[in-house]
Amino acid sequence: MPKVAIVTGSTSGIGLAIAEALAGLGHIVIVNSFSDTAADHAVAKAIADGTGAKVVYRQADMSKAEDCRALVAWTEKEFGSVDILVNNAGIQYVAPVEEFPIEQWNRIIAINLSSAFHTTAAALPGMKARDWGRIVNIASAHGLRASPNKSAYVAAKHGVVGLTKTVALESARSNITCNAVCPGFVLTPLVEKQIDDRAKELGLDRETVIRDVILEKQPSKKFASVGEIAAATLYLVSDGAASVTGTTISVDGGWTAQ
Ligand code: NAD
Repeated sequence: MPKVAIVTGSTSGIGLAIAEALAGLGHIVIVNSFSDTAADHAVAKAIADGTGAKVVYRQADMSKAEDCRALVAWTEKEFGSVDILVNNAGIQYVAPVEEFPIEQWNRIIAINLSSAFHTTAAALPGMKARDWGRIVNIASAHGLRASPNKSAYVAAKHGVVGLTKTVALESARSNITCNAVCPGFVLTPLVEKQIDDRAKELGLDRETVIRDVILEKQPSKKFASVGEIAAATLYLVSDGAASVTGTTISVDGGWTAQ
């Protein structure tokens, strides 16, 4: 039986790979971002064409509580349920804490942390009523470790891990699980921007920045791939992971082993 899955922030990077992987299993997938352009709808259409699954695009701005909750309500109305919820939308901003712009702090906390609270709160009643659900939060190695100049991101991702554990405990007596995937560095537009910024700031070439700056903490010295993050997500939504709840899976080339 196909399940109904929402993947927030899924027009690019990790979210896109997860949406493709879920559609590849025949699930109905809601692709999401904050804009509502022809290109956004084309992303969903390309996944549908490639997999034969029902894939639709739905605009909702994950910085807004009402949009987060409306995305879940719309999906339940349109497709009857939200069985799989992947909270993936996320942004980054880098600055020392005393210079961190208040609006960037608020935006990161809203998109990277509060959106998962809102979508989860909205989806849980239906999951509980049907006694089945899978919630996967895309946290980060920064949900388990800190780095300088990423106060909002690190705080939000640690918060996501805490939210994950709490939701798991609250739903432990049902067939609902809630887990977090903690990627190390993955080469997506979010990281491309950090490479460009650090190369400019340090006056180094791209290869040096990748090896010595970006992948400094990743012992494998390789980016994780979006497909690897999708594979961890597919495991967590599978029947085989029914007893896996309230935990984190690191896909980080050994970063958090240190
Ligand atoms: P990305 O920039 O490639 O994709 C982010 C997606 O979120 C895009 O589809 C974007 O449109 C969407 N988005 C941004 N703001 C939004 C909003 N307000 N409402 C709805 N959608 C919004 O980034 P990515 O690297 O694929 O990151 C995805 C997730 O993985 C994020 O939560 C990120 O923190 C996490 N992560 C990424 C890495 C990495 O190295 N790339 C590492 C650890 C964790």
